[in-house]
Amino acid sequence: MHLLNADLHSHSSVSDGTLSPAAVAARAAANGVDLWALTDHDELGGQHAAREAALALGMGWLGGVEVSVSFADETVHVVGLGVDPDDDALRAGLAATRAGRRERARAMADGLAGAGIEGAFEGALSYAGNPELVSRTHFARFLVERGVCADTASVFRRFLTPGKPGYVAHRWARLGDAVRWITGAGGIAVIAHPGRYRRLSPSAEYALFGEFVAHGGRGVEVVTSAHGEAEQARYGDTALEFALHASRGSDFHSPTESRIDLGALPALRAGLSPVWQALAHRIAWPDAGAASAARERAAPAPTPSGSAQPAAQSAALA
Ligand code: AMP
Ligand code: MN
Ligand code: MN
Ligand code: MN
Repeated sequence: MHLLNADLHSHSSVSDGTLSPAAVAARAAANGVDLWALTDHDELGGQHAAREAALALGMGWLGGVEVSVSFADETVHVVGLGVDPDDDALRAGLAATRAGRRERARAMADGLAGAGIEGAFEGALSYAGNPELVSRTHFARFLVERGVCADTASVFRRFLTPGKPGYVAHRWARLGDAVRWITGAGGIAVIAHPGRYRRLSPSAEYALFGEFVAHGGRGVEVVTSAHGEAEQARYGDTALEFALHASRGSDFHSPTESRIDLGALPALRAGLSPVWQALAHRIAWPDAGAASAARERAAPAPTPSGSAQPAAQSAALA
């Protein structure tokens, strides 16, 4: 039986990834992904290229986005899956969410200048493929280039997190607005990587899921690169407690910075409801001819049965 390898969280140079949408698609396909979503931050500009590339490579495709939300002093990310990239209300909401980024970047650069690092605004901008989407990641890459830190993770620790010189508090979208933009565009809203919200107390996290569901949110990421086994177990339980669909996505940003490659994730555990089954009507599949031609081009010899398929997901195709 062919098992579905779904990777429903990834970034391109349209936000803070380093590869073009087509190059992310090619890497996903080479890694055996069957169903893929590009989920750039607050931006749909890569979606048409992503769809075209996915179908040409024999992968299924879902429209995707990752919306920045402010909730109780924390930045929470809400992934929208199955969204129509041409939906006007979603596009307008994302444009409003992006609007403050440049000013924020100026303020971040001022903070870094105070710590003796000059030219960070221009430096970060030079790394941003999309000038409307200057992010902390672009600052981190610039500070690594400058030799201030050895890697981007250390830049975040030393400069870009609350209390550090390059951190600027920012007001992102409201939770309810993000959920409504996504559902209005035909998609399902999914709480991204809940294990990362260190600033949320257990009761605030419980409130987050309660409010999310009340607004119409229907999914949670259970398997993602920020989650170890403990978080996969914990948020699998959250999915059951709040009757949410479960999602799986690498959050791939770059071949050198990402901990887990596209498609190289553990399977969702049995008993969870995979979000892609609830989105079956929103998936664009390649026609049968394109799919088998792409597989023949891409696949070397067929793997012997029983060979390692760590990324396989226990849900049958079709
Ligand atoms: P921004 O939307 O500008 O606040 O940037 C957020 C992005 O920074 C996230 O989407 C991640 O790609 C990246 N990021 C956040 N925290 C870290 C961290 N501790 N280490 C590396 N990258 C991080
Ligand atoms: Mn990112
Ligand atoms: Mn995120
Ligand atoms: Mn992400």
